[in-house]
Amino acid sequence: MKTGIQHLYIPGPTNVPEVVRQAMNVPMQDHRAPDFGDLTMGLFADLKKVFRTETGRVMMFPGSGTGCWEAAITNTLNPGDRVLMARHGQFSHLWIEMAKKLGLDVEVVDVAWGAGVPVNEFARILGNDRHGKIKAVFVTHNETATGVTSDVALVRRAMDEAFHDALLFVDGVSSIACIDFRMDEWGVDLAVTGTQKGFMLPAGLGIVGVSPKAMAAAEKNTLRRCFFDFADMAKMNDTGYFPYTPPTQLLHGLRRALDRMMDEGLDNVVARHRRLATGVRNAVAAWGLDVCAEHPSVYSDTVTAIKTPTGVDAREVIKIAYDRYNCSLGSGLGPLAGKVFRIGHIGDLNEGMCLTAISIAEMSLAAAGAQVRFGSGVAAAQDVYAEPFARAVQRN
Ligand code: PLP
Repeated sequence: MKTGIQHLYIPGPTNVPEVVRQAMNVPMQDHRAPDFGDLTMGLFADLKKVFRTETGRVMMFPGSGTGCWEAAITNTLNPGDRVLMARHGQFSHLWIEMAKKLGLDVEVVDVAWGAGVPVNEFARILGNDRHGKIKAVFVTHNETATGVTSDVALVRRAMDEAFHDALLFVDGVSSIACIDFRMDEWGVDLAVTGTQKGFMLPAGLGIVGVSPKAMAAAEKNTLRRCFFDFADMAKMNDTGYFPYTPPTQLLHGLRRALDRMMDEGLDNVVARHRRLATGVRNAVAAWGLDVCAEHPSVYSDTVTAIKTPTGVDAREVIKIAYDRYNCSLGSGLGPLAGKVFRIGHIGDLNEGMCLTAISIAEMSLAAAGAQVRFGSGVAAAQDVYAEPFARAVQRN
């Protein structure tokens, strides 16, 4: 029998704070009642703050991130449209596959799983696209499979320098509400996420930020959609309603989660993720292991994919953590299966939780045959986590 808490260190679903869980424990209510907007209008307004958009709108669809990938495509593009995408991990791969299935003509740039979006290659391709055949550029902001964060602002710059008019799609499923994200400043037209990662909620709602340019595209595009129609959703949202039954408990949870984020301050949320991630990366270095991300400039602050040494199967590390220590670590996806395991450090998390994850990973690595010294990773992370307080003591 397993005792104690089940440790959850996968990069989503993430830990739901107790106050958020309690906030969802409400009776069912009438989603067409005259006062339903008292709940929803504030949510729409605060989601815009998290996406950092004033000009765009943010919609929620029952579903998940994948649903909003589809909503973004089917509302704004036409069958056969040429789009530019990079494959550098399982999630960018899956988005490419979806785009193909939906009938788009996808120009794929394959780069190493561990690299960021190939901005220079994108710039070259966009520069050569003199007749504007490319209708959209896709960026997976945080590739959760590899622990790689790409530079969306640089992609925007490349598009602007090529005077390119394509729509900019961004998968922010494991970045928005944790890693710096600026929809308006970066000229993002479609920004996709879900509730089960940075928003600290169960899965159940996909969230999509839509720029005015994308809303205009949605008025004349011809890909088919029904449930995911932006126009239907926008019309109802304008008065606080949904075109169909929304998961009201999740909306109450979202209210509480947004309050928490606003209380902490969005910049502080980002800084906390950076600090916690730095501790995890320090631990990996102390073990003498490599992360999958190929350069510090692309290190993700929400997930670290750790390469196991030759002869050590990452699946074994994950299994030991689960069976012996009641702890879920993230697995290697696609071609990375068996080669990496992932520590998710995203959402409602603090130093002690990260130290637990590191300590369990350390024991599991050793049990799977890796040469790691007990305490080495924990101590390396402690150096990071204790540092701000050490400085405070010195100042006193
Ligand atoms: N994109 C990224 C970067 C993800 O990490 C995930 C899920 O982990 C998805 C898309 C798919 O999202 P969902 O599982 O919410 O459909």
